[in-house]
Amino acid sequence: MLTLVEGEFTETLLDACWLAIAATDNEAVNQRVSDAAEARRIFCNVVDAPMQASFIMPSIIDRSPLMVAVSSGGTSPVLARLLREKLESLLPQHLGQVARFAGKLRSRVKQHFATVSERRRFWEKLFVNDRLAQSLANQDMPAVNNITEQLLAEPLDSRGEVVLVGAGPGDAGLLTLKGLQQIQQADVVVYDRLVSDDIMKLVRRDADRVFVGKRAGYHCVPQAEINQILLREAQNGKRVVRLKGGDPFIFGRGGEELETLCHAGIPFSVVPGITAASGCSAYSGIPLTHRDYAQSVRLVTGHLKTGGELDWANLAAEKQTLVFYMGLNQAATIQAQLIAHGMQEDMPVAVVENGTSVQQRVVNGRLSQLGELALQVESPALIIVGRVVALRDKLKWF
Ligand code: SAH
Repeated sequence: MLTLVEGEFTETLLDACWLAIAATDNEAVNQRVSDAAEARRIFCNVVDAPMQASFIMPSIIDRSPLMVAVSSGGTSPVLARLLREKLESLLPQHLGQVARFAGKLRSRVKQHFATVSERRRFWEKLFVNDRLAQSLANQDMPAVNNITEQLLAEPLDSRGEVVLVGAGPGDAGLLTLKGLQQIQQADVVVYDRLVSDDIMKLVRRDADRVFVGKRAGYHCVPQAEINQILLREAQNGKRVVRLKGGDPFIFGRGGEELETLCHAGIPFSVVPGITAASGCSAYSGIPLTHRDYAQSVRLVTGHLKTGGELDWANLAAEKQTLVFYMGLNQAATIQAQLIAHGMQEDMPVAVVENGTSVQQRVVNGRLSQLGELALQVESPALIIVGRVVALRDKLKWF
């Protein structure tokens, strides 16, 4: 019921209220309302003046009983609104039905599963079940009940598993949706130095984080030990994410880690990531292939024990782009060998440091300068050699 009382504001109007909203165009009156509310210990919102208010009214996304509230603390209602629109389109309409259904099922699940971790596994299984979601959306209750009974009856997979996830080269926006889902469901995340802080912020809050940082030439945790950590955690029934910079199967030793697991019969899967070559190429405006300049691209390890391991004659051939990973320390050798095998000294080269991150730095020049250029750059850095590098002059945007 709404009662309109016309006239001046008086403090006693608030005596019978439990909530007040001051929305006059007179600051002094608003302040009096706020003070009077304070004195009576009732909540008061002052429109457009969050400092005077004891509660705020955030934008909401209503999937009752599920409710998401967005507030910018009064700093920017437009930003809050944009975020709300984004979330609106992201959260399916039937989410409310799902929540209500889960609420009804709660006590049964509590009885059915003895431990918190079993319950969590069950709920995660239930919430990602597409058939159940569909049936709930269609209000097909017989189907909903059927699927639920099935889910309750089948044994929970208590074996651990390992998911090898590529985190991309740095910019957190380059993580895949699938990678994000995995790091949000993980019990344990094993990661190294190339995984950016921004990505680590997306990891499920109560997951254990194990840092096994590696640097070229200096391995903080030996590979064999990393393999053992993954194995041990999975054998304890944990859902383990092995998070790696770039793509796990490109100079990432992903294969070696999986072999150990394979041996022990631990289930595993792989989520690819954007490799440094793709990321650095895009963010430095250097296309890796081009109809006129490069018909192929080669991803090459620069981690050379002697200068003689690579097929330099092949690498020096025309019309291709070379991308050297881990090549910073060997830049002078790369320069000398390519020239010795016939590549032109004026071949454009670029060295991309911290590609795709806000600290990205690109230095470029000619092949005859590569050794010097590398001295101006710190790891992680990628060396790109080829005619395509010259396109950067026109295409750089980041
Ligand atoms: N699996 C990774 C590569 C790991 S090897 C991937 O697919 O990208 C490590 C090397 O990758 C580094 O020495 C460097 O050459 C390159 N690298 C990784 N991230 C990089 C970045 N953000 N910018 C430049 N080079 C990067």
